[in-house]
Amino acid sequence: TRPARLHRAFICQNISEDPHHRPIRVMQWNILAQALGEGMDSFVRCPLEALNWNERKYLILEEILTYQPDVLCLQEVDHYFDTFQPILARLGYHSTFCPKPCSPCLDLANNNGPDGCALFFRHERFELLGTTHLHLAAMTLKTNQVAVVCTLRCRATRQTLCVAVTHLKARSGWERLRSAQGHDLLSKLKNITQETRRTSMDDKVSGMDVPLLVCGDFNAEPSEDVYRRFATSSLGLDSAYKRLSSDGQTEPPYTTWKIRPSGESCHTLDYIWFSRQHLCVDAVLDFPTAEQIGPDRLPSYNYPSDHLSLVCDFSFCSSPE
Ligand code: NDP
Ligand code: CA
Repeated sequence: TRPARLHRAFICQNISEDPHHRPIRVMQWNILAQALGEGMDSFVRCPLEALNWNERKYLILEEILTYQPDVLCLQEVDHYFDTFQPILARLGYHSTFCPKPCSPCLDLANNNGPDGCALFFRHERFELLGTTHLHLAAMTLKTNQVAVVCTLRCRATRQTLCVAVTHLKARSGWERLRSAQGHDLLSKLKNITQETRRTSMDDKVSGMDVPLLVCGDFNAEPSEDVYRRFATSSLGLDSAYKRLSSDGQTEPPYTTWKIRPSGESCHTLDYIWFSRQHLCVDAVLDFPTAEQIGPDRLPSYNYPSDHLSLVCDFSFCSSPE
């Protein structure tokens, strides 16, 4: 029998009066590297058969195709060249992939190569102006974490947009490293957006900052220093999923929920940051409830990753504040 997909609804913030208005839909998702899921994660309540790649890949693709994002940011991709790149290319997505320099997948039996971050965008909607693969540093030390940045131009409106995807260092005890990686990413993003602004022939960009989206598995709760760095940076970023809360100021209660031998792990680690000056959140995809996720948590036969996808609709603000 076919597993039922978790039902999720879009919570609307803004409804456009313009019938031709098409928001930019962005998906952020740590899809769980196949080698890590089978070989390292020890999800004690998820049967190994539920992680079988030949079935799990269709659940991942189904989730992507259900929401049909214009921009898709993935982490823990260890099936880029044999699966996501070719399949999504046929569906109209252009993409770029940056592997981790020393991916933990490579230590595992039957691995399919390193995992990394991948960024996909709908070619019909955006033209690619530039791509950068970043290796994140902490102070002066190189680390094993990466980011991908693409500068895109909306074909319809000619608006420029910079999109970044990252996956910061995991585990407790590494808070200071994550903070340093966040600092490095923010300073590199400032350089890239300033360079884009300087070289742009686009009137809409010259004279103002380039709108920015940063999607990632930050491996950090909102209480961590790296979150504070992003929330207070001079790039003017805000976290889209706060819009789900009743006060508009609170992050959701979880973006990942799993059971390991050490116990249950329910955390908010994934974020979609956006330039609050240039972009408005039109809608946010709600998370499934604890009951819908079920007592064995994630991943499961119904849901292919231990992280939930985040999906938001954005519009360019009509008049920048
Ligand atoms: P990270 O610490 O960032 O983690 C790598 C992966 O492990 C992430 O995708 C993460 O998933 C997942 N992970 C997080 N917590 C756990 C857990 N408790 N059990 C199982 N998996 C978990 O790795 P690095 O990129 O920094 O790896 C650097 C090097 O360290 C690599 O060469 C690797 O082989 C090695 N390594 C050593 C480990 C050790 O315990 N000594 C463990 C892992 C790697 P998510 O982001 O979803 O949390
Ligand atoms: Ca993981």
